[in-house]
Amino acid sequence: MPEPAPQPSPHLPPPPPVPAADAHLFLDFDGTLVPIAERPDGVVVDDDLHDLLASLAAAMPGRVAVLSGRSVQQLDALLGPVASALDLGGSHGAEFRAAGGAVEAAAPPAAMAAVAAAAAAFAARHPGTMAELKTMGAAIHYRAGPEHEAAAHALAERLAADNGLVVQHGKMVAEVRAPGSKGAALATLLARAGGGTPVMLGDDVTDEDAFQAAAALGGVGVLVGPPRATAAAARLDDPAAVRAWLRGLLAERGA
Ligand SMILES: [Mg+2]
Repeated sequence: MPEPAPQPSPHLPPPPPVPAADAHLFLDFDGTLVPIAERPDGVVVDDDLHDLLASLAAAMPGRVAVLSGRSVQQLDALLGPVASALDLGGSHGAEFRAAGGAVEAAAPPAAMAAVAAAAAAFAARHPGTMAELKTMGAAIHYRAGPEHEAAAHALAERLAADNGLVVQHGKMVAEVRAPGSKGAALATLLARAGGGTPVMLGDDVTDEDAFQAAAALGGVGVLVGPPRATAAAARLDDPAAVRAWLRGLLAERGA
């Protein structure tokens, strides 16, 4: 008998149209607010998303966060002026900035130069892969060279073991970075805002610890994408559904 396939999570309902009055939104970026792009630098923040985030920040001041694997610097560049009105958790929680505040982060890993050089050398040797240097680590994207998946993950494991870093597996990406978690960033930013009910929306396995943190703090995780095993208690289909849900939330608040 073959092993049974892992079972997807039971059907999850959509999140309630209006979360708690003291809700604090935590929004993953890639795959949640914008569709995943072929290359990480291929993502654009369209006017619709910019206006939506600005409206949310105005309607829920200090209670809208973007939690991403991207660095705070990358998020600033992508989001533009609205970024300063949002809480930002970058580099998978290794750095964060409360709305209107300054970036708080551990120092970048001492081994960053060696890690960056190894990632760049790997990408040069494996066509279809791409090295992305980040504030707190480096990522190898293999969406255009999926045959290099095993080698990319092996490199990440080796760099992590050699340099006291952690491996982050994501969608078509192997990443090595400074320790930190989206769940910890969620808890810290929520505490800075004086508490509240966290609602965490995310699509990737890297969002699971934030789903768990949200549930532990009396809130809810919302999986974006097809059903799978998850700590989320609600689900939306895709970034378009996320934006529609957020617009509904604004409408209910009269914004
Ligand atoms: Mg994502």
